[in-house]
Amino acid sequence: MSSITLDAIAKSFGKVKAVHELNLEIKKGEFFTFLGPSGCGKTTTLRMIAGFYYPTKGSIKFGEKDVTRVVPEKRNTGMVFQNYALFPHMTVFENVAFGLKVRKQSSSEIKRRVEDALKKVRLDQYMMRQVSQLSGGQQQRVALARALVIEPDILLLDEPLSNLDARLRDEMRTEILRLQRDYGITTIYVTHDQVEALSMSDRIAVFNAGVCQQIGTPKEIYNNPANDFVASFIGETNLIPVTPAAADAGTIRLNWNEDSGKSLVLHNYHQGKWSELSSQPLSVSIRPEALEVLEQPAGENTFEGKVEMAQFTGAALQLFIRIGSRLVQAMVLNNLTLRELEEGDIVYVRFPEQHMRLLPRVMGE
Ligand code: ATP
Repeated sequence: MSSITLDAIAKSFGKVKAVHELNLEIKKGEFFTFLGPSGCGKTTTLRMIAGFYYPTKGSIKFGEKDVTRVVPEKRNTGMVFQNYALFPHMTVFENVAFGLKVRKQSSSEIKRRVEDALKKVRLDQYMMRQVSQLSGGQQQRVALARALVIEPDILLLDEPLSNLDARLRDEMRTEILRLQRDYGITTIYVTHDQVEALSMSDRIAVFNAGVCQQIGTPKEIYNNPANDFVASFIGETNLIPVTPAAADAGTIRLNWNEDSGKSLVLHNYHQGKWSELSSQPLSVSIRPEALEVLEQPAGENTFEGKVEMAQFTGAALQLFIRIGSRLVQAMVLNNLTLRELEEGDIVYVRFPEQHMRLLPRVMGE
């Protein structure tokens, strides 16, 4: 098991800058996720760590060892690919044994280790089956066993669950976490699925367009996103583009860009934070579950709105409410305190100050 340090690595393919300068430290034994939309540079970064690509600039260390220009076979990483990349005409045993044979292990050692790895992924009953006769989930387990059997220092998983159906995905998520804890292995997991990232990771790096936008624990990233891209990519949120109208003694008044008659007020705002933010385009982010839907006006940060859509989802009522020219999304728990809301009803939407996040706007309005 090993820590990983990426020191200002970048990768270009001709004119395409796939990864801009990236600095990152992944701790020993950590489950670390690269999350972001398609084409944002996650796989390229993973491949640089595996050694399939060399960075255009910067360096990579495993522990204290510089591996920037070390070939993949000498890095001792185990990798699982989205399409599993198994040998279809070999048996499960032969697939898992392959890496050990290449490493010239004795046949008794190979047998012991392959059996052990297949037990760990609960496939010891299927040892002599052809891989092509297995289900998708079983093939995924073979790929995991094959990666783990060489006892790698680092496990690299590239969208390993994206070819599985929803139920199997849930099952495999738990399975991967169990294996990772069992082996205590430093793991990098690539996904564009925020639910996977939030539920599995110790920490997450959120990527967009080749640039790392934020690194943090799932809670940090959800509760305190670094900018509007992170806020909207992780979970649902309402983003209101705003322009500061006044800021003194820690009180900040923010006009809605599209409706100058409306403003949001933040009290006791941290001065240092404000001076960092004030020169940039800004948006306020507030999660649907944080908005309060009321039947009466309630002073500051409360706006009259009209219900455009009300969807009952069992545990909650999902509401789309028009406030001026903007549609906001609110999620109200089904606790029966609110009268039954219908489309066309007039309500008052309160933005509680403690749940508003003032964020740099990196996306358009
Ligand atoms: P996905 O989730 O779709 O796999 P990703 O976040 O993993 O996306 P990358 O595969 O890392 O994204 O790609 C980042 C950018 O680099 C994209 O614009 C892609 O087209 C480009 N790219 C990746 N590999 C190559 C290559 N071998 N040659 C040229 N361009 C490449």
